[in-house]
Amino acid sequence: MMEFLQIRIELGNATQNLEKWMKPKQVKGDLINKLNTCQLHKDPLGVVLIIGAWNLPLWEIFLPLVGALSAGNCAILKPSELSPHTALVIEKLVPKYLNRDCIKVINGGVAETTALLRERFDYIFYTGSTNVGRIVMKAAAEHLTPVTLELGGKCPAIVDSTCNFSVVAQRIAWSKFSTCGQLCLAVDYILCLPNCEEALVAALIASIKKFYGDNPKTCESYGRIVNKHHHQRISKLIDKSKVVYGGEIDEDDLYIAPTILTNVTPNDLIMKEEIFGPLLPIITVSSLQEAVDFINERDKPLAVYMFSNDEKSISFVTSETSSGGMCINDAAVHAAVPNLPFGGVGKSGMGSYHGKKSFNTFSHTKSYLYKNQRLENLNAVRYPPYKDDNAIM
Ligand code: NAD
Repeated sequence: MMEFLQIRIELGNATQNLEKWMKPKQVKGDLINKLNTCQLHKDPLGVVLIIGAWNLPLWEIFLPLVGALSAGNCAILKPSELSPHTALVIEKLVPKYLNRDCIKVINGGVAETTALLRERFDYIFYTGSTNVGRIVMKAAAEHLTPVTLELGGKCPAIVDSTCNFSVVAQRIAWSKFSTCGQLCLAVDYILCLPNCEEALVAALIASIKKFYGDNPKTCESYGRIVNKHHHQRISKLIDKSKVVYGGEIDEDDLYIAPTILTNVTPNDLIMKEEIFGPLLPIITVSSLQEAVDFINERDKPLAVYMFSNDEKSISFVTSETSSGGMCINDAAVHAAVPNLPFGGVGKSGMGSYHGKKSFNTFSHTKSYLYKNQRLENLNAVRYPPYKDDNAIM
């Protein structure tokens, strides 16, 4: 649902609007160019490299590809080796259905990606971790290749006491547990304002039970962690003394239960890195200012979520925090709106895409001035020899 639906929406939007996006845009000329044509033309960049992560392995390859092809580019696709079955399907089906001269799939891991990054591309579009983002940007710098980096981080959600807790809990639980927390836009942690933690925790537990029953391990709608390495990494973040719900793990089955932790402090291991797993820490703060300070003391996140029915509080958080995107009273779903460019800021990334922004990302905007050969006497002032009496200043 999350992958195919979004790719179809993006394709529909591009095919419907492409002619409009491609049209040269007329801009006003200055006094000298009043009679000339001044336009902005969209040119393809050339060959683009699209490197995807494993967590939404189709979205992260095909959504940028829609933009790259719309803008007239050729593309090399590098799916993640950590979702090998999907990578294989992409490698088999892309040449079957799409133009082989324009699109190539290269599968492989670090060695293959490193080799690819030595080549000169006209654009690199990378989705993945912040650390590898640095490697990609360094390699791109060698050829002065522009990049989009879609990275990760810790997305906070602020919850205040004006909320309808059962609605808020459902929305947060959906964002956190639908892909076992392996979503760059999942709520990473909750900053709870006074007088709401108890009600929120109860509502979150009710939502988890409603979605996945009393034993999520046997529920078909509940997923698994991608591999043992990530299972071990996430398991280490569970401080059993702080678990108020869940906490069960099974490495052989790559299972980690939807887990809620309270009394979490900034010094806890779970607050030191992006969780990217089904653990939901809750930190109680004493005021909205403290919540905003907490966010601003850390790296700029991919998204900030504010759950509140108080307009003043919402606009305070909107203006006092910086993040790639923002969603009020929901989480992650802003990335599904084609007209809202999606991307990070600071360590959560640079550049953005989706809809028309994707077309622009993969295009070069060429400035275009069209003159005819008449009215040459208007140019007399710019030709030598220069004399004091033809100075215009
Ligand atoms: P990753 O950085 O490990 O891997 C992503 C890609 O980079 C893969 O194709 C991989 O082959 C390649 N790669 C890995 N190590 C490399 C190296 N040393 N040199 C060159 N290439 C290398 O990321 P991941 O673990 O697959 O994805 C999880 C991360 O991605 C999380 O941080 C998550 O938040 C982020 N993410 C961001 C978005 C977004 O749109 N902003 C979307 C999904 C995931």
